[in-house]
Order: sequence, then structure tokens, then C-alpha cells
Amino acid sequence: TDFGFERVALAEKQARVDDVFRSVAKRYDLMNDLMSAGLHRAWKAQLIAMLRPPQGRPFHHLDVAGGTGDVAFRVLDAGGERTRVTVLDVNEAMLRVGSERAGQRFGERIAFVTGNAETLPLPDAAFDAYTIAFGIRNVPRIDLALSEARRVLKPGGRFLCLEFSNVDLPVLDKIYDAYSFHVIPRLGARVAGDAESYRYLVESIRKFPTRGAFAGMIERAGFRHVTHRALSGGIVAIHSGWKI
Ligand code: SAM
Repeated sequence: TDFGFERVALAEKQARVDDVFRSVAKRYDLMNDLMSAGLHRAWKAQLIAMLRPPQGRPFHHLDVAGGTGDVAFRVLDAGGERTRVTVLDVNEAMLRVGSERAGQRFGERIAFVTGNAETLPLPDAAFDAYTIAFGIRNVPRIDLALSEARRVLKPGGRFLCLEFSNVDLPVLDKIYDAYSFHVIPRLGARVAGDAESYRYLVESIRKFPTRGAFAGMIERAGFRHVTHRALSGGIVAIHSGWKI
């Protein structure tokens, strides 16, 4: 194998992803609502319902690929006074929008950190839970991101991943294909002025492993009691695992 070539390919993938999110950062939240017809809100609500941040005790949460902070804000709203969230993303443009959106609302309970999911700039066993929503698909080496997730979790910590998945209902898959290949790039062009970025995102959804295959990767990273749940006919799925 030509490892030099592979390294360049991985760096190119990340560079491509960085361009996409730098270009859409300001319009990202609006695009999410338009593209998913608001469904991403229900999917994120389900993620938080599974996480159930506690009310009374300290809870330190890490949201990776946290972008504009949407998941983090929901964790803070659902948790108690002693819930703290670290939002990590490779893209400073996304984090900047997030920190502006947060304003003074959560005070010291939220922190924004620039970093890569593959090499988290965070200590071992520091977090009670880890979430990644619509992020892992963009990470070039998913296995590294998963082992890093496990490293930073405390024993007993929870891993939750919300990601696009495979639609396998006979009619819905046709509708979904038409929507992905025609509507999404057009919306991207109209609203974010960038059809190419959204075409790339649609492609990355196609390439992502099936629910079963992804569950296997999570298990190989050392997580236990790995489960997955399809939402909206498999358009997205939530995978869960525990560090025991
Ligand atoms: N989690 C947010 C949400 O659900 O609204 C944002 C999701 S957005 C589709 C994907 C995010 O992943 C972008 O903000 C992007 O910068 C980030 N990202 C891409 N590659 C990454 C990496 N290697 N490490 C950390 N974040 C990454």
C-alpha cells in the first residue's frame, strides 16, 4: 500500500469538509431547518431524551462536531444547574456562530474548543457522556474518532451518535433519493449560495456504513451494550454504547 497517498487523500477529505462548513456557517441553522423540513429538531430531541442529563448531580458533557451549538444548548436546557457542556469542532467559523448564539445565556456552563474528533485535545476519562450529531460521517478516520470518544469518557460513560443512515422502505427510499439529489443541491444553491457543498454532503450520506456495520465499528472501539435505533424510516439513526 502507498501510505503517503492515503495520507494525502485523508487530508483532502478533511480540507473539503472544512471548506463546506466555512462556506455555510452563517446559514447553517437555516439550512438545517429547510433541508430537513424541521425534522432535525425532533431527531435531536430524541437524542436528548436518550441521554437524559441528570438534574441534581454534576454532569460533564462533550458534544463533538458541535458546530453552531444546537445539541449543546439542548443538553444544557434539559440538564440541571450542574450540567456543563464542552462543544468541540474543527471549524472555528461554526464555533463562532455557536458562541454568538449562546451569548450570556449559559455563562460558564458552556465552553467552545477548537479541535479534531480524531485527536481530541482533552484529558482521559473526563466526561460523563459524549454526543456527535451529523458529524462522524465527515471524519476521515471514524475508528480513530471512536477510540478517542472512549478515551475521554469516564468508566460508565455513554456514547451517543446521531447520523444519517440507510432508508430501506421501498417507497420512501425513492422519494428520499429524489429529494437528496435534486432538492438539496438546489436549496444549497439558493440559500447558502453553494450547491457543490450540499452535493458533497449528499454523497457522504450514501457512503456512510449501514446501521449494523456502524454498530460493529463502535463495538470494535471497545464500547459495550451497543444498540441502534432508526428514526423516520431510517433517514437517521441513533447509535448508543457504554464505556464499561
Ligand atoms: N452537530 C451539529 C448539528 O447537529 O447541528 C453540527 C453538524 S455539521 C453537519 C458537522 C460538523 O462537523 C461541522 O461543524 C464540521 O466543522 C464538523 N467536523 C467535520 N470534521 C470534523 C472533525 N474531524 N472533527 C471535529 N469536527 C468536525
